Amino acid sequence: MPLDAPLLAFEEPAAKRIEGATGEWEMVIGMEVHAQVASKSKLFSGASTAFGAEPNTNVSLVDAAMPGMLPVINAFCVEQAVRAGLGLRAKINLRSVFDRKNYFYPDLPQGYQISQFKHPIVGEGEVIVDLAPGVARRVGIERIHLEQDAGKSIHDMDPSLSFVDLNRTGVALMEIVSRPHIRGPEEAAEYVRKLRQILRYLGACDGNMQEGSLRADVNVSVCRPGDYERFRETGDFGHLGTRCEIKNMNSMRFIQQAIDFEAKRQIAILEDGGKVDQETRLYDPSKGETRSMRSKEEAHDYRYFPDPDLLPLEFSQDFVDGIAASLPELPDQKKARFVRDYGVTEYDAGVLTAEVESADFFEAVASGRDGKTAANWVINELFGRLNKEGLAVSASPVSAAQLGGVIDLIASGEISGKIAKDLFEILWAEGGIPAEIVEARGMRQVTDTGAIEAAVDEVIAANPEKAAQAREKPSMAGWFVGQVMKATGGKANPQAAGELVKRKLGIE
Ligand code: ADP
Ligand code: MG
Repeated sequence: MPLDAPLLAFEEPAAKRIEGATGEWEMVIGMEVHAQVASKSKLFSGASTAFGAEPNTNVSLVDAAMPGMLPVINAFCVEQAVRAGLGLRAKINLRSVFDRKNYFYPDLPQGYQISQFKHPIVGEGEVIVDLAPGVARRVGIERIHLEQDAGKSIHDMDPSLSFVDLNRTGVALMEIVSRPHIRGPEEAAEYVRKLRQILRYLGACDGNMQEGSLRADVNVSVCRPGDYERFRETGDFGHLGTRCEIKNMNSMRFIQQAIDFEAKRQIAILEDGGKVDQETRLYDPSKGETRSMRSKEEAHDYRYFPDPDLLPLEFSQDFVDGIAASLPELPDQKKARFVRDYGVTEYDAGVLTAEVESADFFEAVASGRDGKTAANWVINELFGRLNKEGLAVSASPVSAAQLGGVIDLIASGEISGKIAKDLFEILWAEGGIPAEIVEARGMRQVTDTGAIEAAVDEVIAANPEKAAQAREKPSMAGWFVGQVMKATGGKANPQAAGELVKRKLGIE
């Protein structure tokens, strides 16, 4: 099973501290991430989940809650939640129950949301949040439950009317609840990034934050140094401060800004002798601040009870084992393997494994070649260029085979590193077979010492003063090598040129 593969060792960093007027503070953060299941149809109906459809066109009678309609569970969605659970090294509950969470909202025609409360599909797991090479935070996962999304109320289309779009009603969400193990704004953003990466590797969620496929509720509290450790030792939340929940964040940058603001707001209240109210807040990116949405006193009583229209979900261990056996290699395992098998740095392995497509591209280039050279070319030349042009790896004009061909030509000494960059440009713009381009355009490196020697003689003869200086100051030999490279259109083997320059000048 790929999940058993050894991972890279890491240390957990100290928590970020904030200096207040009355001493130091620390942040404690826990997240509830809603990840839309990458399913073509909804959790309990066959209606389409396609994003951006005309309002109210992807709505079945079940989604519209017509009287007498019955929900039917979507097996694909269930399987994705199990895959997500396994990917987070979590316990899969062989029995889980769907509950009704009762509340009224215009975009929720049922009058309740079908969710899971006491018996979620996935139990405890963990996410390793990479922070720097050799440094990571182990964040516990409390649970994942499956639930329906609500529709969308639109208030800004007309001055006096509101509209309801039920296209999103009933779409399957996985709610992934973390333990309060995140210790700073950057860690929170990295947590979401890592979760998104794992879900994308699994194909369980497309992770498109702009379209709302992945959004996070961020719980923030502050405490004094030592309090968090006491909480971890005892499990007693009484050691932690009162939390506020910032709803519906769908940008890594805003998550960081909101946490930063919120922690400082709470510290200011506490240092002023006040108390933090447990409440739900919203982040306003234009003002850079969070504001209250509802307080705990207004907290809903949802009257959860098991949905009588749905049987409990029951799996056999064989079903779960079968899914586990079919999981792809996940980011942590892949990264460790790249370090181990290709000798690339942990940092580079992190860049290469950010997306499955980039990792696959790298492996195609590195196969049968020097891993470090392949990583250099893939990251610095190819990814650098793709980023600049805003292209995905899948849209790369230069294929893995072409890039591999360039590296082979350098390795065999046929072209210099400098010419290789020109060759890369040609491949990018025009395509073609690297070896044929080198042949046809006379780009082959001159290793014929006779030709290089002639160029060296010429440069020395044309620059008698510089030659005299270089004999006094050998470090000036580099200037001559540069001139020789220029004279040969970059095709001289630089090492051979260097040796000849020194010999001809009588340096050494
Ligand atoms: P609810 O469903 O009412 O929001 P939960 O108990 O499910 O409440 O907790 C929601 C989230 O809040 C979890 O991610 C949890 O880790 C986090 N959390 C709980 N207590 C704190 C705290 N003191 N500071 C920060 N986060 C917290
Ligand atoms: Mg909550």
